Amino acid sequence: MYDVCIIGGGASGMACAIAAAGMGLKCIIIEKEAKLGRKIYASGNGRCNITNHNFDRAYSKYYNSSFSDYEGFLKRLFIKSSPDKEITDFLFSLGMPTYDIGSYVYPYSLQASSLMWTLTDKIKELKIDALLKTCVEKIDYIDEAYVIKTKKNDIIHASNVVLACGGAGYESLGGSKKGYELAKALDINCTDIRPSLCGLITKDDISILSGVRIRARAFLYDDSKKNNAFKTMYACEEGELQFTDYGISGIMIFNLSGKAGSLISSQKRAYISLDLLPDIKDEIIFDVFKKSNYRRPKAVLNNFLNDKLAGYIVDNIEKDIKASCNDIKYDEQYVKKITEALHSFNIEIKALKDFDNAQVTAGGICLDIINPKDMSITNKNGLYAVGELTDIDGICGGYNLTYAFISGIRAGKGIYDKIKSDKNQRKKTEY
Ligand SMILES: Cc1cc2nc3c(=O)[nH]c(=O)nc-3n(C[C@H](O)[C@H](O)[C@H](O)COP(=O)(O)OP(=O)(O)OC[C@H]3O[C@@H](n4cnc5c(N)ncnc54)[C@H](O)[C@@H]3O)c2cc1C
Repeated sequence: MYDVCIIGGGASGMACAIAAAGMGLKCIIIEKEAKLGRKIYASGNGRCNITNHNFDRAYSKYYNSSFSDYEGFLKRLFIKSSPDKEITDFLFSLGMPTYDIGSYVYPYSLQASSLMWTLTDKIKELKIDALLKTCVEKIDYIDEAYVIKTKKNDIIHASNVVLACGGAGYESLGGSKKGYELAKALDINCTDIRPSLCGLITKDDISILSGVRIRARAFLYDDSKKNNAFKTMYACEEGELQFTDYGISGIMIFNLSGKAGSLISSQKRAYISLDLLPDIKDEIIFDVFKKSNYRRPKAVLNNFLNDKLAGYIVDNIEKDIKASCNDIKYDEQYVKKITEALHSFNIEIKALKDFDNAQVTAGGICLDIINPKDMSITNKNGLYAVGELTDIDGICGGYNLTYAFISGIRAGKGIYDKIKSDKNQRKKTEY
């Protein structure tokens, strides 16, 4: 009989096993893939962005959830004011130094393999059993212990079970819906799930711009309007944007995808409004047009923007002018239309890319039934849920691994505390 059976050998499962076995508990990890931590190997383009020093207590800047008080949940989970320091201290205690690039934290070697080897060596040192290429199919609770059945018909007995099955994204890296199915079969409430950290499919076909990369500021709005302008802004990001054959992509768009997904799933229309020249004041644009004697607008705009995008904006403005039966005059009024289009290039979002293109899954096991102190599930003795399987998704920058590691550590320590307190209780009753 194991003290803990951890289902899923990703970041959260391995952190949980190391924390629990480090305090003397007998642990087993069951992993359906041939290797532990397949997503870690692929993370951060192989460099693995573990955490981020840009972390204050306003956690809704970095995470999304459908649970109304998820910020309170994260405050109780992270306990310490700097989760990033907790991660770097944890990894250093295992013998892995880190390296900062700006606020982003990586293994010192800038290789995900450093993190993986550190974790797997510790797993071996602590004699944690790891059953690979083994998918858990069923979990039963019989006579105050868990009976875990695998696809290969192995049967494992454990007094505690940790669901660490991750999300549905990137099936090629182990992503699957298995964890949600196991949870539901145990009568654990789950929200609907949807892709996050992915590209956005636009309502209008803008594939003509495919391949264009620009620096921009992006605002996410719903369709509520006041005086013809968007009213409610949900998030703002700045960085590189890529136009694709289906819509828009790039890290800043990934970071808006979580909140865009929740707007779309609550039947609201989601818009991204782009400021294509966030650093340029209108006076400069007017001045450049004037100094160019209002010559070919596409050519003047090309001084500021990618030529395909400049052409697209000019063509659309001229189409509108013609549609209202006016002559095209290259004057200040024309340049005003140009500046408006540059600062509010509005795109309606139809949908998110699918799970196979989503680095993270939004939604999952409901947070209102999880105690963030130890990730235990309410009214389910000895059952825990950690990592991406739960209803938390973070933006890019190391926030997802931070959550996976810390939730795993809390569960490992929580199980140790529970076993210790049960033993003390038993001793008291024996006396
Ligand atoms: C391409 C890519 C790049 C990323 N880059 C970063 C990054 O740089 N920084 C960052 O913070 N985050 C990044 N992420 C996200 C991050 O990797 C995940 O959020 C994190 O790994 C989640 O950890 P987890 O332990 O919850 O789940 P996972 O790492 O997904 O682990 C879950 C494991 O459970 C196994 N499993 C599932 N069901 C069963 C079952 N029934 N039986 C047995 N095993 C099962 C799966 O095979 C999987 O190995 C990236 C994700 C992807 C896809």
